[in-house]
Amino acid sequence: MVDDTIAAIATALGEGSIAVVRVSGPEAVDTVAKVFKSKTDLNGAPTHTVQYGWIVDPRSGAMLDEVLVTVMRGPRSFTAEDVVEVSTHGGIVAVKSVLELILRSGARMAEPGEFTKRAFLNGRIDLAQAEAVIDLIRSKSDRAFQVAQKQAGGALSKLIVPMRQELIELIAHVEVNIDYPEHDVEEVTASVIRSTCGKLLEQVGGLLKRADEGKILREGIVTVIVGRPNAGKSSLLNALARDNKAIVTDIPGTTRDIVEESVSLSGIPLRLLDTAGIRETSDLVERIGVERSKGALEEADLILLVLNNHEPLHDDERKLLKQLKDRPTIVVVNKIDLTGKLELAEVEADYAKERIVHLSAREGSGIEVLEEAVSRLFFSGEVESGDLTYVSNARHIALLHQTRQSLEDAIAATYEGVPIDLIQIDISSSWESLGGILGDAAGDSLLDQIFSQFCLGK
Ligand code: GDP
Ligand code: ZN
Repeated sequence: MVDDTIAAIATALGEGSIAVVRVSGPEAVDTVAKVFKSKTDLNGAPTHTVQYGWIVDPRSGAMLDEVLVTVMRGPRSFTAEDVVEVSTHGGIVAVKSVLELILRSGARMAEPGEFTKRAFLNGRIDLAQAEAVIDLIRSKSDRAFQVAQKQAGGALSKLIVPMRQELIELIAHVEVNIDYPEHDVEEVTASVIRSTCGKLLEQVGGLLKRADEGKILREGIVTVIVGRPNAGKSSLLNALARDNKAIVTDIPGTTRDIVEESVSLSGIPLRLLDTAGIRETSDLVERIGVERSKGALEEADLILLVLNNHEPLHDDERKLLKQLKDRPTIVVVNKIDLTGKLELAEVEADYAKERIVHLSAREGSGIEVLEEAVSRLFFSGEVESGDLTYVSNARHIALLHQTRQSLEDAIAATYEGVPIDLIQIDISSSWESLGGILGDAAGDSLLDQIFSQFCLGK
């Protein structure tokens, strides 16, 4: 049972317009009341109300900061305990001295993730939701943020809980038949196991398939830009990044190093690599043979092959077009502000129209068409519907793989004449691995590991 009161700065440190000190625990209201001066008594404040006043050092009587204090009494709070949030005037010195006063008047400094840990321990959220809070803090793109936000709201848990319910019912059903074996019951039980486990297997498979998309949302699509010198690779990278980190020049071969840039294309994070620097010094096809550039191409989730609209196709480009046609490649026909000399029909012979984008990197026109093409390639439009739940956490994915394995084992066993009570072990372990996602029976060390990933104040 948690019985002490904790406090921490809940907003990012730095010069913000406001900063929040969060206090949680049985003495939260009383602790803050000791240093809060206002017309009203904080101890008498109704839940979910905001009080205006000053933080005052009780020893010196010094007025530290003008603040707004929010009182949320448990269990209707983030931690399910009494929570008080003090909104201060931002400056790092101000917020730190407010925290210091609160600590002096009885609260203990919270450990990283301790607020969320309490929410979990108090049954307010399950483990999947707690982990989603970590992802929320870390998410790099709008879309990854939405996925994490949804999961924090319990979307994944809502899928897992009924699946476990079905398994419990199956386990009960099988248990009864083990205890009271009757004629033909074995065969009936086997078919029930097959149909229930088969159905769950499909659901788990669906979640794992979308996990790949979730990973993309969190970590970004590793994107390699290739093409002949002067096709406009650096210009494209710059147009996408909208700053000038790569050097653009008229002299081929001046992009010296691999330039990496993170950009967000309609909410999808791209990690752009301009590998031009390692290629522009010798013949293109030869250079594709160079280990480093080969590696970069092989590991790419997305390849942008840049062609110059103003020049006829070069043999190197023909080879690249063939070589990359079965990869996740988008052909970028650049410099459409200049007259077309490129043999487009040749490109179209190997690439569907949706995978060819015409744009001008210099003028920045057509970039949105590229965004659409990328979005289509990776999400087949599904993401827009917004009703998908992505599994994005490595621990959850591992547990889903375990679940799938146990379900498959259970089904296979029914065909191999394995005794029902042994099959029951597989079914139980699939129930357990699904439960691991929700934090059922999570050991202390697992909990500590998860919650220590939080930053302070969450
Ligand atoms: P890279 O060698 O493939 O990286 O090519 P750069 O991005 O360095 O561009 C080579 C030259 O082509 C530069 O002079 C750019 O200004 C020019 N360029 C790039 N994109 C366009 C475009 O869309 N239109 C025109 N007219 N010129 C472009
Ligand atoms: Zn370049």
